[in-house]
Amino acid sequence: MKSRSVNKKSKLFNKVTGAGIRSRLVMGFTMFVLMILVIVWVFQVLLLDYFYEQTKLAELERVLDGIESNIDSTDLDLVCAELASEYDVCISVYKIENGELGEPTISKEVSPTCVIHYSDTETLNSYYSQALSAGGEFTDSFPLAPGAFRDPIKGDHRRPSMADRNDNDNFFVVAVSVKALEDRSGNEYAAFINLRFTPVRAIEQTRSVQFGYIAGVVVLATVIFGLIFSSRIARPLEKMTRSAEIMAQGDYSASFDEEGYRETKRLAKTLNYAVDEISKTEKLQRELIANISHDLRTPLTLISGYSEMMRDIPGENTPENSQLIVDETRRLTTLVNDMLDFSKYSSGFEVPELKIFDLTESVKKTMCRYSELVRQNGYCIRFDADTNVTIYADERMILQVIYNLLNNAVNYTGDDKTVYIKQTIYGDRVRISITDTGVGISADNLSQIWDRYYKVVKNHKRAVTGSGLGLSIVSRLLQLHSAAYGVESTEGVGSTFWFELPISK
Ligand code: ADP
Repeated sequence: MKSRSVNKKSKLFNKVTGAGIRSRLVMGFTMFVLMILVIVWVFQVLLLDYFYEQTKLAELERVLDGIESNIDSTDLDLVCAELASEYDVCISVYKIENGELGEPTISKEVSPTCVIHYSDTETLNSYYSQALSAGGEFTDSFPLAPGAFRDPIKGDHRRPSMADRNDNDNFFVVAVSVKALEDRSGNEYAAFINLRFTPVRAIEQTRSVQFGYIAGVVVLATVIFGLIFSSRIARPLEKMTRSAEIMAQGDYSASFDEEGYRETKRLAKTLNYAVDEISKTEKLQRELIANISHDLRTPLTLISGYSEMMRDIPGENTPENSQLIVDETRRLTTLVNDMLDFSKYSSGFEVPELKIFDLTESVKKTMCRYSELVRQNGYCIRFDADTNVTIYADERMILQVIYNLLNNAVNYTGDDKTVYIKQTIYGDRVRISITDTGVGISADNLSQIWDRYYKVVKNHKRAVTGSGLGLSIVSRLLQLHSAAYGVESTEGVGSTFWFELPISK
């Protein structure tokens, strides 16, 4: 029967579907890295030429502006030299005479691609007139023919000019910018700038291949890293799931390993705490059921038996029989209360609520519960205490310890009906001892009286039957306080039960 329900549960757990942490994390990481790679590819491969060209053209503009703002300066030549070397551009400035280029006033040649220095006046004039018709400035960029650096006839090295323009080629690209300028005296000039683009297009293929390799390595590394990382997260969770399944099947010995990241450690800790609590409740439940079935049956049988007898048999409805039912009912009440207390304390369900309180006053309070018995039956309870002592403990529990010990002493004391309670201070500890003058306990029984349901078969002085749990409760409560306790007894002389607790100032 049980195994069937277990199987049913296992099937239920296995039914959970959907993506796991591992696949989700690996997929998430890979998608993220792919997105980054696409962005890098767009900027580094697709748009690099464009950005490069824009930067270079902006440099051209800056050089032209530099020349314009210094056109009246006597240092114009020096300024042009500086601009040429700073931006790696060729510069030539022509004076305009009769609407055409005259003699060059400035000429800076910094590279072998200074096409403006080797072009004929006609070409330069046509650029100038294009600048004029375009509002004063004109820029043109074009590739040079591969053989532009060699004389086609002699085969010698030579400097290329704008005539070597070859729009089908894209190896050497140059940009030529012309600006029409005018100085304060109304003299007109044409400033020519010429720069060379580094041929980025030529390495486009290499760049794409390299980018492909990089992308492959990065994606592979991401998948490996994602698998390792997700395993570190998933493993403790999988372990915890296995433990939780064991727990769900009613085995509370299951424990959760507190490993992995902070969150999983915390989850395991919480689950361990939960299992502990559930197992305590389960233990308490089992204790109660065992005790009830074992100990309650006897008085209940007696009560029901006597009640039926009194109802059915004429003449059996006697005061003695009624008293027996009353006594058994009382016994039952004591038993139930003691059982509940014992199960509560021994299952670990109840933990001491520690606070500072006056122990001496607690003893006096407990003695008060016996004032009626003392008055009516001539009992004498003496308390010997020099001073009031405070302790740090659970007051309710300690009151119960004193009550149980006093109750036994009153029940078992001798004919003088006297019980002595003594408070003694030993350094930083206080001892409470409760002494009676009763039959005492034999050495054989002495070691067993703290056990559950253990009773020494002897006549009680008072007509109160115990549950056999009083001393077990005392022992459990004192253990919860890590207190020292014990008993000294001599048969025929009496017994002294004691416990010690640290004094709290
Ligand atoms: P009960 O409820 O039967 O008193 P306890 O656990 O308190 O159960 O005590 C266990 C047994 O120890 C008792 O049945 C009794 O025989 C013995 N005992 C306890 N206190 C004393 C005492 N002061 N003098 C003699 N015997 C005692």
